[in-house]
Amino acid sequence: MEKIHELYEGKAKKLYSTPDPRLVIVSYKDDATAFNGLKKGTIVGKGVINNKMSNLLMQRLEKMGVPTHFVEELNERETLVKKVSIVPLEVIVRNVSAGSFAKRYGVEEGIVFTKPTIEFSYKNDVLEDPLLNEEHALALKLAREEEIALIKKYALQVNEILKTFWDECGVTLVDFKLEFGRLYDGTIVLADEISPDTSRLWDNKTGEKLDKDRFRRDLGGVEEAQVLVGTQLVGVVGTNTVVGLDNHGIADHVGELQSILQTLHQMVTGSGQTGLGVVLLHGGLVLDLVHLMELGTGGDVELGTQPCVTHQPVLVVGLQPVDLAVLEGEEGHSPE
Ligand code: ADP
Ligand code: UDP
Repeated sequence: MEKIHELYEGKAKKLYSTPDPRLVIVSYKDDATAFNGLKKGTIVGKGVINNKMSNLLMQRLEKMGVPTHFVEELNERETLVKKVSIVPLEVIVRNVSAGSFAKRYGVEEGIVFTKPTIEFSYKNDVLEDPLLNEEHALALKLAREEEIALIKKYALQVNEILKTFWDECGVTLVDFKLEFGRLYDGTIVLADEISPDTSRLWDNKTGEKLDKDRFRRDLGGVEEAQVLVGTQLVGVVGTNTVVGLDNHGIADHVGELQSILQTLHQMVTGSGQTGLGVVLLHGGLVLDLVHLMELGTGGDVELGTQPCVTHQPVLVVGLQPVDLAVLEGEEGHSPE
């Protein structure tokens, strides 16, 4: 399916028409904005990661009964989706206090809620997306009552599925934003994207922020905090974090993994970090090894395939030299 006309350019994505009026192509940009566009920058490789991550999560949600706009990933930045008319509501689900919630109510970040909260804001850049309640949404005819009920049901379902997903990756899903749209026949489906740009993700153990807050607050290293692995799992990992991989399927994606590692390398080189260690292990085999490179010197990425027996599949990614202690105690060879 090819792109015909550019329909829209937003802050993070472009939309293109296709020969089929019911389908559009979404293309993810590397541009980053925060505070409703007041802060701007570019994060090399962000579009690729958000595209892949969003598609993986949408497919998972679809399988678990949440209808989405996802049709087919076309390439690393572009995805074919069902065209919707967007319901102009930003649906925000929160599990833990943070961001505008903490500020608005004068509470600290990190308070774990006993029940998730849902809030709506009016998707309107000129008005800066003001908060609104269901009655306001009805009064403004942004959605019908039954649509709002369905949107809330889906949003909570998405929360349960994503919370479990991220928890398995050692990550807390703090909050996120969803957008829904109407298909030609009025069916409500989940649209837009789900990525670290639209979610707050904190490392379970260290509390490290693995999402767009790094950019909002100049913490640096947005790119490095996001690493995408194959089609089985997206691991958002911080420095020297170990993430379990699914047990099957990865071996079929060695080529894809290599290209991801190369992207990672480029991102890290661009960020001026001095050392990079990536050890990617699966099923007792080192699929790739990018180890302790001195960056900034134009060093090539070397992808190794040295076998190494491990007790469980792990992915180790670090911006500092990888702590090889995590590999110790294994039978057989050390990775280098
Ligand atoms: P923004 O408009 O906030 O700058 P983006 O850069 O992400 O955001 O632009 C993508 C636009 O496409 C958003 O306005 C979003 O509501 C809209 N959109 C997302 N999915 C679909 C879809 N399936 N059909 C039509 N529009 C969509
Ligand atoms: N969010 C978003 N787009 C927006 C506003 C919020 O994706 O226009 C996401 C944001 O990344 C966070 C959640 O919604 O995961 C809650 O954001 P919050 O209300 O705390 O506002 P923010 O801190 O983004 O200003």
